[in-house]
Amino acid sequence: MMNLRGLAADTGREGLSQDRSALRIAGVRKVFDKLEAIRNITVDIAQGEFVSLLGPSGCGKSTLLMMIAGLTQPTSGEIVLAGKPVVAPRRDVGVVFQSPVLLPWRNIIDNVLFPIELLRLPLAQYRPRALELLKMTKLDEFAQALPRQLSGGMRQRAAICRALVHDPGTLLMDEPFSALDAITRDDMAVELQRIWQANRKTVVFVTHSIREAAFLSDRVLVMGRRPATIIDEVEIDLPRPRNVAMTEEEGFNRYTRRLRKSIEASHEQ
Ligand code: ADP
Ligand code: MG
Repeated sequence: MMNLRGLAADTGREGLSQDRSALRIAGVRKVFDKLEAIRNITVDIAQGEFVSLLGPSGCGKSTLLMMIAGLTQPTSGEIVLAGKPVVAPRRDVGVVFQSPVLLPWRNIIDNVLFPIELLRLPLAQYRPRALELLKMTKLDEFAQALPRQLSGGMRQRAAICRALVHDPGTLLMDEPFSALDAITRDDMAVELQRIWQANRKTVVFVTHSIREAAFLSDRVLVMGRRPATIIDEVEIDLPRPRNVAMTEEEGFNRYTRRLRKSIEASHEQ
């Protein structure tokens, strides 16, 4: 079998750090035992770009995100982040999961600072940054509170602070708002857009919500049913900052219709 990883190592690795692409997913395939989850995905994501992976549940979105995070390895193909192949979890990446998994006995600021402890970085040096992030997400008054004293939306904002505390260049988010009610969810999307505009991280955002993908993204990658491939790619050319009122407008609905069509087409196959 051809070793794609070896091949990539021999061809043009030098070039990767010089081009615009912050994240390159090259011919990635993932097989669990006999189940082929991801067939062949090749994508380039630019520095500071906000990209969503949109697809039905079970299509392989989380699997792809976990490979980008270095938490699991592709069966073949390669993922290159900031010019270096991803072979294990990295410091230059922050991850936000569907449920915020805060440590219940630690207050919010200590939860936010937890990665700093894990990475054995100087805590005192990062405390002002953690407070700044809490301020940015309007949680500064809750720095000393315990997670159970916060609402679901507030806990997820704390988890976003935690993912950003070590200042990673890339933020990976796996359906981070799906456990929230619709109104909180809209607020969080606006909030995330604000954080992203202020920090300009490269974001890969997993969702099965067409509306959420269209609202947040520079570009939406539509994934078909398992084994996953990218079946459509849509640039969302709407001005920023976007607001919830815009989601009622024709310009926005044109995109959601297009995305819905792509997903439906993949179901008919
Ligand atoms: P999504 O996030 O789009 O809902 P997943 O990436 O979680 O989809 O799963 C894609 C497919 O791979 C599913 O059929 C799932 O059951 C399977 N899968 C995911 N993780 C594992 C694993 N660790 N072992 C075996 N199968 C898995
Ligand atoms: Mg998932």
